[in-house]
Amino acid sequence: MSDDATWGERYADSLMNTFGPPKLTLVRGSGAHVWDADGTEYVDLLGGIAVNALGHGHPALVEAVTSQLSTLGHVSNFFATEPQIRLAEKLLTLLDAGTGKVFFTNSGAEANEAAFKLTRRTGRTHVVAAAGGFHGRTMGALALTSKEAYRAPFEPLPGDVTFVPYGDADALAAAVTDETAAILLEPMQGEAGVVVPPEGYLAAARAVADEHGALLWLDEVQTGVGRTGAWFAHAASGVRPDIVTLAKGLAGGFPIGACIGVGEAGDLLEPGNHGTTFGGNPVACAAALAVIRTIEDDGLLEHVTVLGQKLRDGLAADPRVTEVRGEGLLIGLDLVDEVSAEVTAAAMRHGFIVNNPTPHRIRLAPPLVLTQDDADAFLAAWPVILDEVMGS
Ligand code: PLP
Repeated sequence: MSDDATWGERYADSLMNTFGPPKLTLVRGSGAHVWDADGTEYVDLLGGIAVNALGHGHPALVEAVTSQLSTLGHVSNFFATEPQIRLAEKLLTLLDAGTGKVFFTNSGAEANEAAFKLTRRTGRTHVVAAAGGFHGRTMGALALTSKEAYRAPFEPLPGDVTFVPYGDADALAAAVTDETAAILLEPMQGEAGVVVPPEGYLAAARAVADEHGALLWLDEVQTGVGRTGAWFAHAASGVRPDIVTLAKGLAGGFPIGACIGVGEAGDLLEPGNHGTTFGGNPVACAAALAVIRTIEDDGLLEHVTVLGQKLRDGLAADPRVTEVRGEGLLIGLDLVDEVSAEVTAAAMRHGFIVNNPTPHRIRLAPPLVLTQDDADAFLAAWPVILDEVMGS
């Protein structure tokens, strides 16, 4: 490929076509703003899909990564490091669930793989998961993900998984038996377009799990670490899960995942049961500690709660929006027509990056440091964007 080729052409010639053509080639970012290779600026309302918690180039994250990398960049899991221990302790404290243990990974799918293996150590194999849920693309995580288009090309997948409609406590109760190892739920379904279950659903899931001696596993890969205005999206429910999986926003863009076993569930994996070369890497753990410290020091949970409500109210004011859902800065909305791809393209022309998880749904998951000015600019542009696609 010649040097005259565009980045898009070079991408197509050198990267596997698993994602389709990229929308832009981005070259730098600052706060909630990114710039493409042509110098055009965008407000990033997707944040790397709920990952860039502190936005782009945050000094606390840069300092933590730089300083840890220049001190101790990697050791094998034959050895412990201070950031790894500190982060595990911090996550257990934030979870406020008493005792527990953490296994670190590099991604959400791997956190779920670890959790899936952990559930097998109960001696049971059956897992009940929700239709519309998304848990990742590795074979185990895929087995727990209901979407047929993702599953079909890779079957047979690990079996003994039952899918039930999300939010339906009766369906859950009917599916779980004394042979069930775990119930797996997202506290809010992110990839489905931010679907919020009815009040009391997680508590009902806890009760069903207890009745049958099953584990309750909450996938907070997308919803965790401040995204919804709380450390964990399930916190308001008062439910104590047995397993929580995290990734995405945890280290603000540095690859990391975590499988947290609460109480006795933390002891189910024994020496030799699982492993990883990079999981628990000290640089990734230092990055996560910096993210958590910044969320605490800058009062970002409160900021996310207030700004998220303002965004939801503003977006819902347009009659072409039929429903707005979510908490904090994880926001999903439904449009009257199936034009979310066109709306996403129009938003980009106006300088805003948003996401269209389904034909009539738009999702926003901006950096937690999104400013009031950026939110106001988007709300001002929103009716104009919709006019462009749907007419006024
Ligand atoms: N679980 C949930 C709820 C997710 O939203 C995702 C990714 O979108 C995953 C798991 C998979 O995470 P990763 O892409 O880091 O493997």
